[in-house]
Amino acid sequence: MSVLELVREDLRDFGGYSSARSAKLQGDIWLNANESAWANPADADAAASCRRYPDPQPQLLRERLADMYGCQPEQLLIGRGSDEAIDLLVRALCMPGRDAVLYTPPVFGMYAVSARLQNAPALEVPLLDTDAGLVPDIDAIIATAKQGNAKLVFLCSPSNPGGLSIPLQQVRAVAEALRGQALVVVDEAYGEFADEASAATLMDRFDNIAVLRTLSKAHALAAARIGSVIADAALIAVLRCCQAPYPIPTPCSTLALSGLGDAALAQTRARITTVRSERSRLCIALSAQRGVRHVYASDANFLLVRFSDAEAAFQTLLQAGVVVRDQRAAPQLQDALRITLGTPEQNDRVLDALATLELTA
Ligand code: PMP
Repeated sequence: MSVLELVREDLRDFGGYSSARSAKLQGDIWLNANESAWANPADADAAASCRRYPDPQPQLLRERLADMYGCQPEQLLIGRGSDEAIDLLVRALCMPGRDAVLYTPPVFGMYAVSARLQNAPALEVPLLDTDAGLVPDIDAIIATAKQGNAKLVFLCSPSNPGGLSIPLQQVRAVAEALRGQALVVVDEAYGEFADEASAATLMDRFDNIAVLRTLSKAHALAAARIGSVIADAALIAVLRCCQAPYPIPTPCSTLALSGLGDAALAQTRARITTVRSERSRLCIALSAQRGVRHVYASDANFLLVRFSDAEAAFQTLLQAGVVVRDQRAAPQLQDALRITLGTPEQNDRVLDALATLELTA
């Protein structure tokens, strides 16, 4: 069975919008897209890059990302952050009211939001709180997906906010069990901070695996909104038809391309090393802090921390000017805050602030 059979039946012959650019005609006077013949004065210095509609999938950027993530350019779609990729997958695969989306709370909220917007039934299989940390319940995921007609299974690795990567053999077990029924989407937004290999390495054996990557985290380009979905090339072509005609603004793709140049990448790697060593330092320091109940092991650029009094910790940090993510409304995390790792100086501010908490706890 082809992975295309997972696409909504009513969209299988859908060609999407046919833009002026998609006709791929050649010429030196371009009068086919109702663009302006003159540049905006603000655009003049940048080679008038915004006068024309952008390439829907900027080829050089697509090649660079594919090279970096270990796939072919045709297996990769660039979107406005991985948020857009999540939404496209849910819209293209799930028939409203019928095909379910499975995810593992506490986890990144956009899987639930996209499912809700599509009126796709949501299947929640809670993470298990074990000595190793918050881990997915693989047997329950497989059983629930089968019983509940899941079309999409989101595995977040490393998980936000749980922090742990999912071992590849577990991803493989889910993909194998659900072959022909569901696409297993491995969200690797924080993959650069982890040791586990990308699930993209499984894609030649499992066409029902897709991988999400982003430039928003390790690559420090959150405002450029460049995310990727990597999947079977035929599925990528379908997702492209479901996407907006010109999703990637030229200034964003230009910035992303230079942000992935050799010199910038070397700096990115150095920053990742810093984040990883800060992660160990803070994990140890916070674990020793009175008032801290538990610091979860993390493969990402944040730490999930349980406090005896999370409200006091949150307010103390806020008074010190440090804003962290309150997780108390998330299932299983009634006493937890998620602290993104900052610069070593910023992390010291976190520790200093929480040390004052110790006096009152
Ligand atoms: N996946 C996960 C697990 C995330 O934590 C986030 C952002 N917080 C995203 C995807 C979305 O990232 P972006 O849209 O910026 O690529």
